[in-house]
Amino acid sequence: MLRMALQAPNTPLVALRSILGIPTLQTRFDCDRVRLLLSIINTPQGSYVRQQLCDELELYDGIVVAEGDERLPAASGLWWHRTLQVLAVMDVAAAGDQSALPAGGGSWVDWARLVAAQWAGELRVSKETAAASRVAMLRVEARRRAREIQRCVASLGEVSELVDTPNLAPFVVDPKRDVTQLRIQLRGGRRTLFGHRHFHLDRCPWCTEQGMFTVPHLVRDCVIWEEERLEAWEKARAVAVAAGVDVAPHVAVLRHYWYHFTCGAAVPGEFLDLDLDRPTHFARGTAPATRHLRLALPVYQRMLGITGVFLRVLVSKTRELLEAGNPAWGYTPEVNARRVAADNHAAWELEEARAGEEDGGGDRLERALREAATAMETGDEARARAVLRQVFQDLEDAGEEEGTEEPAVEEDSEDGSV
Ligand SMILES: [Zn+2]
Repeated sequence: MLRMALQAPNTPLVALRSILGIPTLQTRFDCDRVRLLLSIINTPQGSYVRQQLCDELELYDGIVVAEGDERLPAASGLWWHRTLQVLAVMDVAAAGDQSALPAGGGSWVDWARLVAAQWAGELRVSKETAAASRVAMLRVEARRRAREIQRCVASLGEVSELVDTPNLAPFVVDPKRDVTQLRIQLRGGRRTLFGHRHFHLDRCPWCTEQGMFTVPHLVRDCVIWEEERLEAWEKARAVAVAAGVDVAPHVAVLRHYWYHFTCGAAVPGEFLDLDLDRPTHFARGTAPATRHLRLALPVYQRMLGITGVFLRVLVSKTRELLEAGNPAWGYTPEVNARRVAADNHAAWELEEARAGEEDGGGDRLERALREAATAMETGDEARARAVLRQVFQDLEDAGEEEGTEEPAVEEDSEDGSV
């Protein structure tokens, strides 16, 4: 069952490994990167690699300043690009806790910049700092894992009622492999059934009802499928009636039980007298097992076959619809898009960091000032002026919004900095 679920279409390895509690490939690479940084810093004073580390950092900063806010294609190939990103993620994961920050306080990014610049001096990474880096990386890993698991919760929550009996009866009874596999995947929620890429859709792709792209909605409620659904259930009911099994009338009213039945989950005996109750769910009834199986199994089998046809058509048509995409949903399939790219840790961590920057005006100011200072050092006065002008413009705007205009401050700092 687990193997089948793991073969679900489009479920990225990042998600699966997180659910199983295994570090992802990227987490391993990031850990190695941090270890490498520490071991380079531990080389003797004035060593070639430490010089190189410092040179590369200057080169990187130079490119960042020159490229401005463009997404730094030129700098992204440099070792420091990803390293600074990882260090920033470590800072976020440490959340100000001293045991996960370099000894002596401060952030990982500042610490790394500082030690890289001191390439000529005697320097050893202290035991406390090395231990703190491990704590920080463990927290980074935990954060990534928690995020993936939370994203699965939404999908699993919809179908939790289907999985509360560990019963394999429907899968043994109905051996047609594709339908059996569908019913198993169904128990992983829509993320497993329709694939990771589609599971973020905010509405039912059929009736376009908001927030209704869920397994119960599709199988039980969606109006677009009502006719075919009721037809399948009526047919299945007719099989039970013909075999002399007690089954409740009013298929449309008892749709919740029929939904459970279609998915291969438990249903109460008053609804369908086949010993499919939660505590007994097939084969473990009060009647002698062999007799019960001989009588009930063929009926259950045929009924599952009929509802399975409906399920198969519904799922495959929905998959096709999702694959085709629809601009109105805010979703179009990217042809030949690399699947994992959007789901890897770096992508969402960067996005999160960027969102944080937009909130924190203070950080932005600090960054801009640093950028201007670097521009001045490299002789790019025009760039420095442009950056500072933008800063003051922003400050002015912010001041106007809050109704606290302070032109004096603006004048002073402009004279002082430029
Ligand atoms: Zn619908």
